[in-house]
Amino acid sequence: MASGITLEKIQKRYGALPVIHGVDLKIEPGEFTVFVGPSGCGKSTLLRMIAGLEEISGGELRIDGERVNETAPSKRGIAMVFQSYALYPHMSVYKNLSFGLETAGMKKPEVDARVKKAADILQIGPLLQRKPKALSGGQRQRVAIGRAIVREPRIFLFDEPLSNLDAELRVQMRVELSKLHQQLGSTMIYVTHDQVEAMTMADKIVVLRDGRIMQAGRPLDLYNDPANQFVAGFIGSPK
Ligand code: ADP
Ligand code: MG
Repeated sequence: MASGITLEKIQKRYGALPVIHGVDLKIEPGEFTVFVGPSGCGKSTLLRMIAGLEEISGGELRIDGERVNETAPSKRGIAMVFQSYALYPHMSVYKNLSFGLETAGMKKPEVDARVKKAADILQIGPLLQRKPKALSGGQRQRVAIGRAIVREPRIFLFDEPLSNLDAELRVQMRVELSKLHQQLGSTMIYVTHDQVEAMTMADKIVVLRDGRIMQAGRPLDLYNDPANQFVAGFIGSPK
């Protein structure tokens, strides 16, 4: 079950300082959307507002048509994936995956079934008894993604999840994330400052600069017909 997301004139101020200046955006159910732009342009802030981890200063956020500005994060059907170091170091991989479900009161057979399903998808079954420190960077990142999968969210949000990995592994994980998207069919938003990642992974790219959308569209459309110099420079086509 995939969900659509609508942002209407979304604003964010930190104290008196405006950092997101009225963003309008429609994300279709099942779409893989990439937010791309230079450091400080507001990618994480936008993602955190969608997740409910940051208060929205103005405008309206809707999921499947329903206003969720004030909805608690746990009630939005969203799971967010951070960089891999966000694992619990003292817990096994199994426990890292099951912990959130157990604290939410889920029964053991259902917890086990969900952990097994996620472990199969990510091919980490043999690692379930290990501690994070006994895993490679790529394996840790899979566990971090697994923690989102077990929750069976309507929407996945990824905030630069591969930025800690070396170049080769990053390429491999990009392919795996694209496969995961095909397999689950969920709505996913992926934040990166890496143009190549954006071009290769996205159904839709949203190019941000200084808290504003410069252009949103399919990768090839942005490449062939950039709206301005900034998009052209960022995506790599001359204008
Ligand atoms: P990005 O993820 O694109 O690098 P951010 O969303 O983290 O950008 O930041 C956008 C802007 O908001 C930046 O100017 C940043 O300094 C500012 N900012 C982010 N978080 C806070 C905060 N908690 N308090 C004040 N300013 C913040
Ligand atoms: Mg960020």
